[in-house]
Amino acid sequence: MHELSLVQGVLNVALRAAQNGGAKRILAVYVKIGAYSDVIPSYMDECFKLLSRDTMAQGAKLVVEEIPVTIRCNACGIESGVARRQTCCPVCGSQDITMLTGRECFVDRLEAE
Ligand SMILES: [Zn+2]
Repeated sequence: MHELSLVQGVLNVALRAAQNGGAKRILAVYVKIGAYSDVIPSYMDECFKLLSRDTMAQGAKLVVEEIPVTIRCNACGIESGVARRQTCCPVCGSQDITMLTGRECFVDRLEAE
């Protein structure tokens, strides 16, 4: 239940932000998620509906924006965008890589009233 705990975290952040901003209702939550986290957006949507019931975010739209995976190769030094589960450098094939983006998960912005 990877998505469920992830969505719970997102919801907590959104609710806190809306409360701090004096909002009554959350209309939409925009989330940025790294492609490496391998979540299924439609499933996240279901989790969000479930968890947001009876909260300020009930009925809000969850918008998932995916951040592509990029790596830097420690052997040849080239930065590349890669498929989500690729763990070697597409240029030289080295597995000595550093992931630059792709593991993110954060609330980018909220629409509330
Ligand atoms: Zn390389």
